[in-house]
Amino acid sequence: MTEAGNSSPLVKLEAVNKHFGALHVLKDIDLSVARGEVVVVIGPSGGGKSTLCRVINRLETIDSGDITFDGQTLPAEGKALAKLRSEVGMVFQSFNLFSHKTILENVTLGPIKVRGIARQQAEQRGLELLERVGIASQAAKYPAQLSGGQQQRVAIARALAMDPKMILFDEPTSALDPEMVQEVLDVMVGLASDGMTMLVVTHEMGFARRAAHRVVFMADGQIVEESAPEEFFTQPKSDRARDFLSKIL
Ligand code: ADP
Ligand code: MG
Repeated sequence: MTEAGNSSPLVKLEAVNKHFGALHVLKDIDLSVARGEVVVVIGPSGGGKSTLCRVINRLETIDSGDITFDGQTLPAEGKALAKLRSEVGMVFQSFNLFSHKTILENVTLGPIKVRGIARQQAEQRGLELLERVGIASQAAKYPAQLSGGQQQRVAIARALAMDPKMILFDEPTSALDPEMVQEVLDVMVGLASDGMTMLVVTHEMGFARRAAHRVVFMADGQIVEESAPEEFFTQPKSDRARDFLSKIL
């Protein structure tokens, strides 16, 4: 684990509230992620973890509070919003690759269309990124020809292709067959040690132990506790966390 940066936080949420109708999904959330920091978010289903990810790149709006990214309040629309989305990569449980495009095209599409990068340059960089996630030999294939673990590694390469300042991972391994989980986690550990800022929703304790600077336990829309990974898994402070851990371990 590398040391997280100590300059101003890359993303900062202050007193953030979010409702879906009568449902209060984010309750006064205060959370900062430093540059280079890896934060693992863990907690029961329905606790607001995905919503937390989605408000950071403004896939969801908030009802009150403040979110800043790189020192700026999140933009509401237009070019500034497109820029934010390109700076905050997102990797979901379902890989969401374009099925009718090749692996390389999946990785180069964003840089070409959104960033206006020349095709040849985007392809060269795309191949480098596929190499980095261990999948360059599959570049000309289509997503359906790859295993789930390979597809998720492509999704990570696609996120990296936009040169994001941060990547949000929302349960990136929970749809994978067990034997494919590790290859994806290994890529994520590599990114973490290269200094990528990451917010990772996962129940993979091994990843948290290897790569996280901090574990945030979230339940019922609240941050219940924050700890160093080892401390969280061995000596959780709250009954909620103890109860949750007894069910997943
Ligand atoms: P988690 O990722 O921790 O499982 P979510 O953030 O997905 O939790 O969901 C938190 C709560 O908000 C859940 O009760 C969920 O059903 C609800 N919810 C999530 N998205 C929506 C939506 N778009 N509309 C209505 N309710 C939603
Ligand atoms: Mg979720």
